[in-house]
Amino acid sequence: MTELVVRDLVKDFRVRDGVRRSRLRAVDDVSFVLTPGRTTALVGESGSGKSTIARMVARLDTPTSGRIVLSADDGAEVPGRTYRDHVQMVFQDPFASLNPFHTVEHHLARPLLLHGRAKGREDTWRQVLRLLERVNLTPADEIARRRPHELSGGQRQRVAIARALAPGAKVVIADEPVSMLDVSIRLGVLNLLARLQREDDLAVLYITHDLATARHFADDIAVLYRGRIVERGPASEVILRPKHPYTQLLAAAAPDPDKRGTVVAEQPDPVGGGLGHGVHSGCTFRDRCRWAMDICATTPVEEKVGAGHFARCWFYGAEE
Ligand code: ADP
Ligand code: MG
Repeated sequence: MTELVVRDLVKDFRVRDGVRRSRLRAVDDVSFVLTPGRTTALVGESGSGKSTIARMVARLDTPTSGRIVLSADDGAEVPGRTYRDHVQMVFQDPFASLNPFHTVEHHLARPLLLHGRAKGREDTWRQVLRLLERVNLTPADEIARRRPHELSGGQRQRVAIARALAPGAKVVIADEPVSMLDVSIRLGVLNLLARLQREDDLAVLYITHDLATARHFADDIAVLYRGRIVERGPASEVILRPKHPYTQLLAAAAPDPDKRGTVVAEQPDPVGGGLGHGVHSGCTFRDRCRWAMDICATTPVEEKVGAGHFARCWFYGAEE
């Protein structure tokens, strides 16, 4: 696989607004590229459209418009069935994503068999144990026989990660993978994801509301605000030289990742990022922006603000 390209992605939901029916644009013109061996963080507050994007990239939901294309090494588009083998999702809630009636072995054996990665009982068992060892769940043979309620939250999320690897994932979409876990074990799970990413040369989309972990674990950062990517670029650039007024607010509110213990700390959202109703015209941040100008009533286009660094803000556009 060479890359997964997301282009001009739009998702509208029909919502009931009292007695009126209206349309909510949850994802608005989103584009990004995932490449092997790189982690891209999608950072945004609750309601900004992160899970909607994740579900569309994992093909659990269909876009209103836009394209999502996974290309193979030879440049050809990977067809639907193979796409599902290659693009796997890790959900926020590890309890909800595992079936309480099935053992850990069942959860891992099923995708191995379904996607033709294992043959026969012995081979399947061997591969289940191997997967459990890779996510540091040992003794693997004992863990394999347990059911989800006999595991801690962190262990369950490790099983969910192993399950994502089972079909031979090349792209992993991790939707707030540690936000429901105990603060003390978050770093361990994120480090695990980082190691697997290196070992398997995975392309990872790490979805989070936490800019500090994004800086620590991601190569690239895309900042989402009300369904739109307002800034994107190399992680250090976006954090150290944020250009969009919204990113500047986020960066100022984020704890210093170099101080031990603050890396995965909970942080309050500095400003609300929820969606209003309808389809936005103009900059979605303009009602909160101290620099807002008349032109901000028109939707800004993406402007280059550094090497591989882009912002959607009129402040950097128009005249030189
Ligand atoms: P995030 O994951 O960033 O918290 P979501 O992608 O879950 O945000 O939601 C983005 C917006 O879309 C929210 O306003 C949410 O209420 C709305 N939304 C999500 N799913 C649906 C749905 N199935 N029907 C209607 N609205 C939805
Ligand atoms: Mg979400």
